[in-house]
Amino acid sequence: MRRARRDYIDLRSDTVTLPTEEMLEAIRNAELGDDVYGEDPTVNRLEEMAAKKMGKEAALLVTSGTQANLVSVMSNTKRGDCAILEAECHIYHYEVGSISAIAGVLPWPIKGEMGILDPRDVENAIKPKNIHLPETTLICIENTHNRYGGTIVPPESVKALHKVAEEHGLRLYMDGARIFNAAVALKVDVREFTRHVDNLMFCLSKGLSCPVGSLVVGDEEFIERARKVRKILGGGMRQAGIIAAPGIIALEKMIGRLEEDHKNARLLAEGLSRIEGISIDLKTVQTNIVLFDVGGLGVTSERFVSMLRERGVLALPRERTGVRMVTHRGIEREHIERALTVIEEVSREIKRGET
Ligand SMILES: *Cc1c(COP(=O)(O)O)cnc(C)c1O
Repeated sequence: MRRARRDYIDLRSDTVTLPTEEMLEAIRNAELGDDVYGEDPTVNRLEEMAAKKMGKEAALLVTSGTQANLVSVMSNTKRGDCAILEAECHIYHYEVGSISAIAGVLPWPIKGEMGILDPRDVENAIKPKNIHLPETTLICIENTHNRYGGTIVPPESVKALHKVAEEHGLRLYMDGARIFNAAVALKVDVREFTRHVDNLMFCLSKGLSCPVGSLVVGDEEFIERARKVRKILGGGMRQAGIIAAPGIIALEKMIGRLEEDHKNARLLAEGLSRIEGISIDLKTVQTNIVLFDVGGLGVTSERFVSMLRERGVLALPRERTGVRMVTHRGIEREHIERALTVIEEVSREIKRGET
């Protein structure tokens, strides 16, 4: 197996991680069956492991985080319902509007503080029973919060939101694409988060380094519904054990190492904070995502990112002057140091061009 573009320091996302040799070996040796018939032992094993790890009854392997969120929203609601979510969340921004286009649910965005919803704001947004209004049935949170820079919604905040959900008979769902990053950063068991939500999803394909897959986790009844919804969406896979096999290794071996990604993100962020013209809010750097702004250099992020690319560093432009970098397996301390050197050079060059 070879990386397609091996010369770049790729900081665009943790989704670019490749499977480990052990994962490839596990794929090769996986015991397989037809998962639509429930007969793939490797998938069954992964789903059991995931449920156990999250302290829930059952789990379901799906194709992607986006599918996991759609399956979960559809399994938690009926068409015409209203779902409260954080205004910057992935479901609202990056899932092609599937919550309305396919689930038929009205998203009700509320602005949070670094991704953390205020329970009072949530409570105020729950619709009273009234002939004119849709029924609010779901609250969605995101942890870690992607667009805020991988910020953590701490267990006590999840708990407070759960209390509101319970009092009003709503469900609380967590898009936990990177929930293990949150658990590792706070040095707590992931169940400290999951015990306060009704159901959740997490991604295998990000920092956990698997090539494909996410898991939806919840109680048995919910997962049974989710299995049917997955089938409606065309997500029933057959010998999916080839996807599940690396997932098992991820859950066994890849969680602890996320700490290295956090250390590298911190190193990167601190380096960036010393470069003139770049602004960064170090408070938001809690896990493996680093957001910074190049507006002070008088360039757009598109331009800045293309200059980095010419020098072998890949990043994602975000809005007009924002840049995102994400650390992951394969990015070592020396790559961060090299990236910082390149960023400094590019910044200097831009400033020289100005004067
Ligand atoms: C990446 C991500 C997703 C979607 O996952 P895909 O596998 O890319 O579809 C959903 N939610 C959050 C918070 C994410 O970061």
